[in-house]
Amino acid sequence: CGIVGYVGTEDAKEILLRGLEKLEYRGYDSAGIAVANDNGVHVFKEKGRIAALREVVDTSVDGTVGIGHTRWATHGEPSRKNAHPHQSTTERFTLVHNGVIENYEQLKREFLIDVELTSDTDTEVIVQLVEKFVTEGKSIEDAFRHTLSLLKGSYATALIDNEDADIVYVGKNKSPLLIGVGEGVNVIASDAMAMLQVTNQFVEIMDEELVIVTRDSITIKTLDGTVMSREPYTAELDA
Ligand code: GLU
Repeated sequence: CGIVGYVGTEDAKEILLRGLEKLEYRGYDSAGIAVANDNGVHVFKEKGRIAALREVVDTSVDGTVGIGHTRWATHGEPSRKNAHPHQSTTERFTLVHNGVIENYEQLKREFLIDVELTSDTDTEVIVQLVEKFVTEGKSIEDAFRHTLSLLKGSYATALIDNEDADIVYVGKNKSPLLIGVGEGVNVIASDAMAMLQVTNQFVEIMDEELVIVTRDSITIKTLDGTVMSREPYTAELDA
């Protein structure tokens, strides 16, 4: 139901958790975060409130990159297993997703016959497809773009590769998604309110675009690879 992401210099987990708390009013049944550091990507998720998620987050894990999610289940019951982030089989890729992948059954049959899925969600096919296409030799960006081009339905999604976790890959179609820009920090949010704690400068992302987010840059591309340029606007809190 809500997405946040952070690529900066501060500890990501507290910023992500605070961001998710700002989205709580929208309703959700479970929540999770992934935080990346030199030891890899660490996933914490739980059914229920953000307060319950806070209980399972290992406070000793610090990292300056991360993604977070509040889930409103559409496919698969509310549970810890079905909560996001979801990981690929080797755990190299970690992903959050808002929306509905209408053709996930077909994608499973067509591309993921040999892959054992670990959740009941429509979402998991996205992260498994990325891993499959990378294993077949595509770059991460090409694998992500190819995966997005296969999806039918709605998505706001964010992906981390634990082998190069200074980049967050983002995709959007028919679900809200914004990139917040700062000095040496960029953030991702389904609603600007979640990340006003970091910046009030936001860039709108259009349907069928993907964004490559690092600390110092955001690169917006269409699914056919054309680079787009777009200025930020100033987001204000509604009084
Ligand atoms: N369809 C996905 C699921 O059921 C995402 C739901 C959401 O937008 O929170 O896990």
